[in-house]
Amino acid sequence: MTTTTTSTPASPPSFAPSGSPAVGSALATAHAQLATAAEILGYDEGLHRMLATPRREIHVAVPLRRDSGETVLFHGFRVQHNVSLGPGKGGLRYHPSVDVDEVRALAMWMTWKCAVVHLPYGGAKGGVAIDPRGYSLAELERVTRRYTSEIMPMIGPDTDIMAPDMGTDAQTMAWVMDTYSVNRGYTIPAVVTGKPLAIGGSLGRGTATSAGIVHVTKAALAESGVPLDEVSVAIQGFGKVGSHAAEIFAARGARVAAVSDQYGGIRADDGLDVPRLLEHVRRTGSVVDFPDADSVSNTELLALDVDVLVPAAIEGVLDETTAGDVKARWVVEGANGPTTAAGDALLAKNDVTVVPDVLANAGGVVVSYFEWVQANQTYWWTEQEIADKLEHRMTTAYAEVSALAKREGLSLRDAALVIGVKRVAEAHQIRGLYP
Ligand code: NAD
Repeated sequence: MTTTTTSTPASPPSFAPSGSPAVGSALATAHAQLATAAEILGYDEGLHRMLATPRREIHVAVPLRRDSGETVLFHGFRVQHNVSLGPGKGGLRYHPSVDVDEVRALAMWMTWKCAVVHLPYGGAKGGVAIDPRGYSLAELERVTRRYTSEIMPMIGPDTDIMAPDMGTDAQTMAWVMDTYSVNRGYTIPAVVTGKPLAIGGSLGRGTATSAGIVHVTKAALAESGVPLDEVSVAIQGFGKVGSHAAEIFAARGARVAAVSDQYGGIRADDGLDVPRLLEHVRRTGSVVDFPDADSVSNTELLALDVDVLVPAAIEGVLDETTAGDVKARWVVEGANGPTTAAGDALLAKNDVTVVPDVLANAGGVVVSYFEWVQANQTYWWTEQEIADKLEHRMTTAYAEVSALAKREGLSLRDAALVIGVKRVAEAHQIRGLYP
């Protein structure tokens, strides 16, 4: 196990200890967004650098004995970007392209996201560079338990709380919670959120990110007098976020005209039958080959003539090569970091309204917070209470961001980042610098 510390980086403007992040990478995007917010806020170099640099990072080796007896090795990371407002909070990702810079970017976005929706958390993220589709459930359990025990010193209900992200789910969180609890000697449900209901999960957590996406979409449309049930929607990614978003959009009367996953996409201009599509995906593992739909590539989906585009898969899909072709009037970012800085500039030039990730997909961490509060109180709320509190948080946050954007002539992204960054910076300044 090796621990990397957060020594002052050698050469600005890159604040990453490993040097400049790759152009167009998630970390480059996150740094560019922070630099814009710091400039708008008039922050000096020292404060900007402090906000750009993760507080703590850990890089662990995760050996796995495969079912065949062979041993393989993975790399795992946990990054706490900022803890000025409270314990680190952030998901655990299993994906082959995970590396420390991606985890740093995702942790930074969690910091601003938690602050935008007023949660008493800092930002954190974890990941293991593994393609979970290539491993049995028993192998994934061993990977999760080994990763958890390697990062034990960093996590805890008061220090750093995990949740599912790409490639992980409620079962993964159950293994993390069990490994942590067994090692501590008693059951500690609040060390993770997004757990199964049977061990202290919250009602509404599974659909929370998607419900939040629909709340902010409705709020954004309302500013132009457009009702939700009159729009068409294309969704890239049909996992936990994308599939529930499709379900909720359709249930609220919107026309889901196209969806995709990593194997390809489908479109039906009159609207997909989402309940039947969910059944098809449950049976086959992909949206591809769904009857009564035409096929569409992931790149084509981004350029479809729809009202609302929801990227809900991976980072960086809206870049200098794709963003200029977007015909949707609204892009609502379900994924973290789907738009690069160059992509953002093209969308702005074409008058596309972008509801940014740190606001649009915050519903998941909001209900994670509700789950953590319930676990700490050992008192459980009803599904309706959770749904109402989520809607209130999301619509309030949208209204705050939109009001600032209008007042200062900013994009929604810059306004959201200014609000998030300012709340974190103020906490840091009021607490003072130790020692
Ligand atoms: P998931 O693993 O459940 O689903 C990911 C989906 O994206 C799958 O349908 C997969 O096939 C598809 N995909 C993967 N690579 C792709 C590619 N190259 N092109 C097109 N599609 C691809 O993950 P998720 O939890 O739904 O997360 C999706 C995004 O939303 C991530 O950016 C994640 O960080 C973000 N997010 C998730 C949550 C949450 O609560 N799960 C909360 C906030 C943000």
